[in-house]
Order: sequence, then structure tokens, then C-alpha cells
Amino acid sequence: MTSSTELLPNYLGGQWHSGTGTGTALLDPVTGAQLVRVDATGLDLAAGFAFAREQGGAALRALTYQQRGALLAAVLKVLQANRDAYYEIATANSGTVKNDSAVDIDGGLFTLGVYAKMGETLGARHFLLDGEPARLGKDPLFQSQHIQSPTRGLALFINAFNFPAWGLWEKAAPALLSGVPVIIKPATATAWLTQRMVKDVVDAGILPAGALSVICGSSAGLLDQLQAFDVLSFTGSAETAAVIRSHPAVTQKSVRVNIEADSLNSALLLPGEAAVSEAFDLLAKEVAREMTVKSGQKCTAIRRVFVPETLYTAAAQAISARLAKTTVGNPRNEAVRMGALVNRTQFDAVCEGLDHLKAQAEVLHDGAHHALVDAPADACCLGPTLLGTCSAAGSDAADRVHDTEVFGPVATLIPYRDLAHALQLVRRGQGSLVCSVYGSDAAALAHAATELADSHGRVHIVSPDVAALHTGHGNVMPQSLHGGPGRAGGGEELGGLRALNFYHRRSALQASAAVLAQLAAPAINTSTSSPAEAARTGTTPVAA
Ligand code: NAP
Repeated sequence: MTSSTELLPNYLGGQWHSGTGTGTALLDPVTGAQLVRVDATGLDLAAGFAFAREQGGAALRALTYQQRGALLAAVLKVLQANRDAYYEIATANSGTVKNDSAVDIDGGLFTLGVYAKMGETLGARHFLLDGEPARLGKDPLFQSQHIQSPTRGLALFINAFNFPAWGLWEKAAPALLSGVPVIIKPATATAWLTQRMVKDVVDAGILPAGALSVICGSSAGLLDQLQAFDVLSFTGSAETAAVIRSHPAVTQKSVRVNIEADSLNSALLLPGEAAVSEAFDLLAKEVAREMTVKSGQKCTAIRRVFVPETLYTAAAQAISARLAKTTVGNPRNEAVRMGALVNRTQFDAVCEGLDHLKAQAEVLHDGAHHALVDAPADACCLGPTLLGTCSAAGSDAADRVHDTEVFGPVATLIPYRDLAHALQLVRRGQGSLVCSVYGSDAAALAHAATELADSHGRVHIVSPDVAALHTGHGNVMPQSLHGGPGRAGGGEELGGLRALNFYHRRSALQASAAVLAQLAAPAINTSTSSPAEAARTGTTPVAA
């Protein structure tokens, strides 16, 4: 472990720089111990951003997709070799038990590996064909061919505290594969893990100078550095997202921005399922799991649970019985299943949010009754709490549950009258990252999923036949879209090769067929997503 007073340096302009201020201490949320400090005071941001754009961008663009994929594979090896250190940092700084640290660390490494492999499929190219040539008139000689070229700017990432590892690599992997240099600004509270991963990669000398930089500490001045061809990807609260959207870089320079904000995700048990049924059990299990993984500090966590009114009591009992078994406390203790909230500010925010929801809901399982294991009374640990809106009429009357995201181990059980009522209540979330739907009738599941698709980035359908196979409501798989409309921020990340679209500029080349024929690449393996497949699914083909 690093000494408790160490000031973590920033990496910018191809060099390490320590901030010139006193810095902000990062704390252990269980013991309160000071771990390290971060500070970004005094950095020459203009020079650092220019270096990334000019040196990093040019070096990355000189490589093919295949070569950049190989770089990602080499980065993955370095990270794998240092995994133990990442787990130590996560335990100390995020207060997470090993399984929860894995969601972040191994989730990040897995995502990186998937994009490394995708690089192979894109071949020895420097740009991507987008669709087929289209005739512009009667004579087929003059046609239009769209291409996607890597943007000649940089990608600035401003990330949330809850995924310091995955949040870095789920964004950086598609950016680097696209040939776009990255500057990451992690959330201050958990910046250590991000900084350490970048440090390991920089020390290994894998990436070209300027391809990957990290700034820890205040975000002041970062957006002012952005220029027209840069892109900005933000993950965090709706409040900060609103500040970012209104920055002149976005409003005046058209800096492309992706927002992943907060979300009131749902789980829905379809009508017609009995309390003694596999679908019912699958819902209860997943809700309890989602409430407790990372102490509910997942943007995708289930916040609202919709069940038929007749099953309200049975669902309350089934979920509560599972929650009661959750041991809460010091993540270093083997008996503990759920660790801490990230810091005192988050702990207080969760308690405040709970009180706000309780004014319109009953308490079905009270997290305050969980004794803390091996942790001092002032540790930032909190047991899981299940609330309920009592009746279908109560569900209509309660509005807070649809607009207040309590970012902790808290969910609300919401009874409904019929499917139409359930769908109407789910939509009161105003757009979410994910909704999971539970049932055993394939037609009913497909119908509900298509009804919900327009207001969710992902619909996760759980039927008994996939009980042991499904990837989990809250787990973000790189092959599937992450992001959601409306309140969720309106962003899109991942989704396989679709992620590359954000880092490319689409342009229509209008020319003679002979000129356009020059764009054709040597034959490559497009097994991940062929143009035909993309056309069938209505997505933009990025591989040709
Ligand atoms: P936050 O307070 O909004 O902070 C997010 C990031 O923005 C941090 O790096 C923060 O830096 C930075 N920031 C703060 N003020 C800024 C400003 N004026 N200009 C530029 N950057 C600024 O969010 P959080 O508390 O870290 O994260 C929790 C929230 O993130 C939850 O609402 C959760 O739902 C959401 N989230 C969403 C997703 C998703 O994919 N949709 C994933 C994870 C989390 P400092 O830390 O230095 O203040």
C-alpha cells in the first residue's frame, strides 16, 4: 500500500505532475483512515490537452484498428498482472467486498478484452465504411459512400465515483480502438484506483505518448480546454450533467457529449405468475442481489419493483427474507457480504433520501436493524432497506419513488392492478438505463419488452429457461447497449462496435464508382457485426 500521506501525481503532456495545492484526502469509508491525496492545482491544461490531441492522436491514428486492438490486449495483460493491488485499493477506498470489487475491476478488464478482440475483426484499416454506396442519379457512375473517420480531437472522460475501474475501461477501450486519445478525470472520492491503473499502463510503455492521461482532483477548467473535434463523455449525477450540457464548449463549439446520468431502474413481475413460481423466485433473488451489490451504488441497480397487487405481501416477505441474511460491515471480514457506502457524504445522502421516500411508503425491511460486523459505529455502512407503496392506489399517489434516486441499498415495492397500470407506472421513471421483466410466458414477455424498449436502453428478460444463464439485471455487458433516454441522460455507450460511432465522424463521399472502389479494404473478418447484420438490426454498420 502507498503511504498514507502520498500525493498521487497526475499524468498529462506525457509527464507526471504533482498538484501544487494541499490536495484532497481519500479516506477508508470503514475505518476513516486517510489513504492518499489528490490534487490538480497548477497543471498546464492547455499544453497537456494539446499534447494529447497532437502527439497522442496522431500516433494512434497512424495505427490500424487491428494494431490498436493489439495495444488493448497488451494493456489488458498489464492490468491482469496487477489485479491484486487493484483489489486492495478497492477494499480500502471504496469499502467493497471482494465480489463487489470484481464487478468494477474484472468487469473493466473483461470489457477491455472484448474490445481488444473486436480490433482484430476490423482489420488493417484506418477508417470504416458506413453502409453501401448509393446512386445519386440515374447513371450509376456517380455515387455516395459514407465513411467513418476517427475524430482528430481527444476524448475527455469525467467519471462517477462508483466505477473507478470499469468506468475507465468501458470508455477508454472503444476510444483507443477508434484512434482517439483519452484524458480521464475520475471522481475524486475513488480516484486512486483509476490513477493506479493508468500508472501501470504508462509505466509499461505500451501506448504512444499522449494516448492516455489522468487528472485527479478538481474538474475546474477542464471543459474550457475542449475544442470542436473533441468529445466529452460524462457519467454522474443529473445535476452535474446539467452544468456540463450548458458549458460553451458544448453549446458553442458543438463538442459531442455523451451523458450517463442517474436512473430509476425497474424490475417487473408480469401478471399471471403465482407466488410459488420460478419467475417469482427469480425476481425476489435478483431484487435482493441488486439492492446489495456494491451497497446499491450501481447506476443500473433496481430501485423500483413492480408486482401484481395480489402478490405484494408475498413479494415483500420473499425479498425481505433474502435481505435479512445480508451481513453488513467491514469488507475485510470474510463473513461480510455487503461493505460500505463510499463516504460520509453518500451515507448522509442515502439516509436523507430514505426519509424523503418514507413519507410516501411503508418500511418492509429496515436496514437500520442490521448489526455491523467488525466495523466501528461511525463506519459508512448501512443495511438494505425495502420500502413499499402498500396498494395499487398507493402506487398511483406516490410520486417520489419515481423521481428520487437514492444511491444506496434501497428499493421500493410497487403493487399494480394490471399490465397497462404496470407499464404506466414504470414509465413514470421518465427513461431509465434498464428494466428487467420476469415471467414464464414467452409471448407476454416479448410484448412487455417491446412496450418498454422505447424508454429503456436495455430490457433484461428473465424466464425460467435462462435462470442459470442470464447475465444479471445490473451487469453491463460490452455487447449490449448501456445508457438510457430521458432522465438517464440520453446517452449510449458500449453495444459492441456501436460504441465506436461516438469517436468517429461520419462523412458522405460523393464520387465516381472508380474513386469509391479505392475505399474498399482487403477482405477482413467481420464476424462481430457484418453490414448485413447491422442493416437487419437497424444499426449503423461500422465494419466493412
Ligand atoms: P457527480 O457528483 O455528478 O460527479 C461525477 C463527476 O463529475 C465527478 O468526477 C465530479 O468530480 C465531476 N464534477 C463535479 N462537478 C463538476 C463540474 N461542475 N464540472 C465538471 N465535472 C464536475 O456524481 P457522483 O456522485 O460521482 O456519481 C453518482 C451518480 O452517478 C449517481 O446519480 C449515479 O446514478 C450516476 N451514475 C450513472 C452511471 C451511468 O452509467 N448512467 C454510472 C455510474 C453512476 P469530483 O468528484 O471531483 O467532484
